[in-house]
Amino acid sequence: MIKVSNLIFDYMTKRALHGLSFEIEKGSIVALIGPNGAGKTTLMRCLAGLVKPFSGEIYLNDINVAEDSRNAHRHISYLSDVFGLYDNLTARQCLRYAALAFDIPTGEIDQRVSETAAMLNLTEHLDTYAGNLSRGLRQRLAIALGIIHKPEFIILDEPASGLDPEARLELSKLFVALKEQGHTLLISSHILAELEDYATDVIVLNAGRIVKYEKFGSKTTSADTNNKINIALRVKGSPEQAIQFLEENNSTSDIFGDGTYIHAAVWGTENELCALLRALIKADIRVIEFRPEKNSLKTAYFETLKEGEEHV
Ligand code: ATP
Repeated sequence: MIKVSNLIFDYMTKRALHGLSFEIEKGSIVALIGPNGAGKTTLMRCLAGLVKPFSGEIYLNDINVAEDSRNAHRHISYLSDVFGLYDNLTARQCLRYAALAFDIPTGEIDQRVSETAAMLNLTEHLDTYAGNLSRGLRQRLAIALGIIHKPEFIILDEPASGLDPEARLELSKLFVALKEQGHTLLISSHILAELEDYATDVIVLNAGRIVKYEKFGSKTTSADTNNKINIALRVKGSPEQAIQFLEENNSTSDIFGDGTYIHAAVWGTENELCALLRALIKADIRVIEFRPEKNSLKTAYFETLKEGEEHV
């Protein structure tokens, strides 16, 4: 369990984190999202014990990360969005070196290198120089180096950037496998659709503040609940008429467009959904798609930022 209380981080000229408090349960995959400059990297570096906050506390179980960062590093792995590898060493040599650095007993190193390489699909590349590996393989090797000591908490800053779709899919599967083995992951990314495939929780950060922390995995909105049903709507032509219609409708709220879909919350049951679709068509709105949707990451993100704007 990771527990953060009143975390404040200041750069020389700027306060980047304004008193954050939250907890992450063991075995979660937390998506950390927010616009550029929100403070994601700063938060990750604090959690990894790489920089000391101005005030506040970070605990990984009973380890005070800021005060006992050497000990914390044995249990935490941090992969920066920009990372370096020893290009003149083979993947195997890089892994052996990391294993030694993490004090893995000499007799266990070969086995640990093989296991970690297998997990990252690197076995057939073990004798290739890191400098000769493709972008995707370099990324996987960097992750392998960070998890060879089986850290409990794995922090990854934009791990999928620059990877092709197949490599990203492989990475998503790896994250789920790591979670199933009991690791806790915090992953920042701007690729919301992908995070949605595996994230259990989401933290939305904006201007150094948490504007939303949602247990994303458990909170799906189903059409059976007699409550709020999120819908996504796509219309032919300009969305303005549909948005205005929804805004004037008594059973809908939280309306916003993302460029492709119009998202809204409908209050009621499936009956209200049917009635709304009928009313849209009657109003001559050319509906191409109309579907209930999960309380998605994208929805959470845009709704939250919209709320923020309204409060400015
Ligand atoms: P991005 O998505 O662009 O990577 P981010 O959410 O990771 O952004 P941070 O890099 O943590 O954001 O930056 C948070 C704030 O702190 C930003 O306003 C940034 O300009 C500022 N900042 C970051 N590094 C420094 C620094 N070394 N000195 C001063 N201000 C900094």
